[in-house]
Amino acid sequence: MFSTPKTASPLALQGGEPVCKTTWPTWPVFDDAERSLLAETLNSGQWWFGAKVKRFEAEFVAFQGSAFAVSCTNGTTAIEMGLRGIGVNEGDEVIVPPYSFIATASAVVTIGAIPVFADIRPDTLCLDPQDVERKITRRTKAIIPVHVAGGMADMDELAQIAQRNGLQILEDAAHAWGSQWKGRGAGTLGRCGTFSFQATKNITAGEGGILVTEDEALADICRSFTHCGRRKGSAWYDHDYLGSNLRLTEFQAAVLLGQMTRLESQTLKRQANARQLDQLLGGLKGIRAPAAAPKMTRRSYHLYIMRLDEAALGVSRDRFVEALNAEGVPASKGWYRPLYANGVFQRAHLGPAHGITEPLADKNVNYTAVKCPVCEQVCRDAVWIPQNVLLTDDAGIRAVAAAIEKVVARASDLGF
Ligand SMILES: *Cc1c(COP(=O)(O)O)cnc(C)c1O
Repeated sequence: MFSTPKTASPLALQGGEPVCKTTWPTWPVFDDAERSLLAETLNSGQWWFGAKVKRFEAEFVAFQGSAFAVSCTNGTTAIEMGLRGIGVNEGDEVIVPPYSFIATASAVVTIGAIPVFADIRPDTLCLDPQDVERKITRRTKAIIPVHVAGGMADMDELAQIAQRNGLQILEDAAHAWGSQWKGRGAGTLGRCGTFSFQATKNITAGEGGILVTEDEALADICRSFTHCGRRKGSAWYDHDYLGSNLRLTEFQAAVLLGQMTRLESQTLKRQANARQLDQLLGGLKGIRAPAAAPKMTRRSYHLYIMRLDEAALGVSRDRFVEALNAEGVPASKGWYRPLYANGVFQRAHLGPAHGITEPLADKNVNYTAVKCPVCEQVCRDAVWIPQNVLLTDDAGIRAVAAAIEKVVARASDLGF
């Protein structure tokens, strides 16, 4: 399946024999569970407002250990409705990490509020509570910790900061289905938490999202947003709130119910393989494996993120990723730029001509001087291995480690 790491073969990138000749588990995974649930939905003619969306919400709530759930079209709209639900208003500031997918910050802009970037920690790659504290102003209303790759932000420290300053926490748990902090599910530690079921995520219906909360009134408000502003129990053409149509379909719920049958076992498998990889890579010069978070009692892996010491290895991250790909490991550089470095923020102060930045145009913001040095370094030196690779078997995970060892051993052949 793979040649031994001690091979004298040159790097595959330079014409040598690739280490991994295996094909990795493909994603999405599906079987007769999805097929029969989809056929059942199709044949029933009940394509909306059926039992499957409700059943999926109930199963997800049970899995994540929350009380209430509101499903919706995707993880982006889940954040938007969550922010509205917890009372973030026009002109309020929301503290977000710059190491995330754009949705974490764009959702804040979309609802008329202002994203303020706080740096991440170099070990967890999640929000740094100390920098959060420095970024609080009298306009700050909420904090959005992102549980990157399935690892979690320090929810104890963030909860204390939120409490001391009268702030709300919305957890962006789009990578953290199944992760737990001291036995409590990701997304259940703040006022609410949001998840994504987009195609690459660890459970998917192509698209989809959900918000979980312990607060029934908040769940009702969020439901109302997804349901054209109808209040719970109100007549069909009564619209008491400004809402949108963000409803999940019965077809998506059918697929997600199929996905739920495997989520637990897949979560455990990825965790076991990631731990094995930690061990195999332990002590390898120039490679920093993801940090253990002792307060996390279970860790789902959406990604396995390592950091490179480019100087020690004598290779650039981008060349390293190319070499790893050539050895047969589908790695990537991931988020290569902090969110604030995107045009949408860099040009926000230039005014409404810049389309989507319009909501920021009258808010006197200027992101051109924002600097989060830890995030900038991580954007330069991180290497991502995607979740489907972590569903491989023992030989597969050894092949990943062997490929990394080989590239490390010969990294200086590649240079910068
Ligand atoms: C995927 C993702 C989202 C948005 O989810 P969509 O379903 O694609 O809208 C938000 N935050 C993070 C961290 C994500 O990875």
